[in-house]
Amino acid sequence: MRVLGLETSCDETGVAIYDSEQGLLAEALYSQIALHAEFGGVVPELASRDHVRKLLPLVREVLDKAGMRGEQLDGVAFTNGPGLAGALMVGACAGRAMAYGWGIPAVAVHHMEGHLLAPMLEENAPSFPFIALLVSGGHTQLVRVDGIGQYQILGESLDDAAGEAFDKAAKMLDLGYPGGPQVAKAAERGTVGKYTFPRPMVNRPGLDFSFSGLKTFTLNTVAASRDAGTYNAQDQADIAAAFQEAVVDTLVIKCTRALIQENLSTLVMAGGVSANKVLRERLAQKLAKTGGKVFYPRPEFCTDNGAMIAYAGHCRLLAGQHEDLGVAIRPRWPMTELSSV
Ligand code: ATP
Ligand code: MG
Ligand code: FE
Repeated sequence: MRVLGLETSCDETGVAIYDSEQGLLAEALYSQIALHAEFGGVVPELASRDHVRKLLPLVREVLDKAGMRGEQLDGVAFTNGPGLAGALMVGACAGRAMAYGWGIPAVAVHHMEGHLLAPMLEENAPSFPFIALLVSGGHTQLVRVDGIGQYQILGESLDDAAGEAFDKAAKMLDLGYPGGPQVAKAAERGTVGKYTFPRPMVNRPGLDFSFSGLKTFTLNTVAASRDAGTYNAQDQADIAAAFQEAVVDTLVIKCTRALIQENLSTLVMAGGVSANKVLRERLAQKLAKTGGKVFYPRPEFCTDNGAMIAYAGHCRLLAGQHEDLGVAIRPRWPMTELSSV
């Protein structure tokens, strides 16, 4: 089965073709980062317009790369939510229409299920059951995964998502947008231990997170350093390192706790923040001690992409799921509402 996947939930236009026998046949991604950079964040109206501009050329590009015509596909998968309404509409309407035109089924994909299943695109793929840490720009969740669509949320952020905290910290540190990779890069120059940031909520039982306090702590630390006249490139790096340490430490503590609670040894990490090198290293070290294993997607499939949507859609189409002719995007869509396959 060959499935075209379309991702347009936020600021990345992602298109890919996944084949159940041969794996990923082709993929293309257009990031709108430069478009939104001057605003320091995603401007929804601009995002929608840019998806309109880029989606069809990218579909043509992946069909060419795969040496296929649309009619040779077996289905179209599109991100149906959660995400920005206008951006979702572009992929959902285009995907539904293309499938209709080609006379093939269309399937609506949950963006976070896409992230969650992205590690399945790797050669060394995890098997169920496992704990998933979804860490992206809009989500920080620990999920018990017993199969596709069998998701139990064990904990989540009560305020900002980890990626959002990285982005905001980057802004305070005068680093570019999006902040995650920039903070990580600055942290490499920094000295760990120069500053100590709190580890939010680790002393409380449970698996929820809170990152808004770290944001305030960053703001105050930068302000104090500026007031003291000590704020320079080195100080910026030291603060970035302290911030990253605090986020990584908190995530590692909660992941370990979730594995123990659920008596599982496999951890799957997905979403933009899972590209973070220090987080990857720290989790691997920690789990090695207990015989556990951690899986994650290649860095380019940690952030938004079409391949994860094509893969998730193919799983659901194989199970016989598809949409009727209507389009009904879900800007808010709890993952626990998904059906199992
Ligand atoms: P969601 O998936 O929740 O709807 P999103 O699609 O905007 O949100 P992703 O594309 O999965 O999020 O990830 C983007 C986020 O990942 C940004 O907040 C970015 O700063 C963060 N990020 C990317 N690379 C890194 C990194 N190396 N270290 C830390 N954070 C990172
Ligand atoms: Mg993005
Ligand atoms: Fe995402």
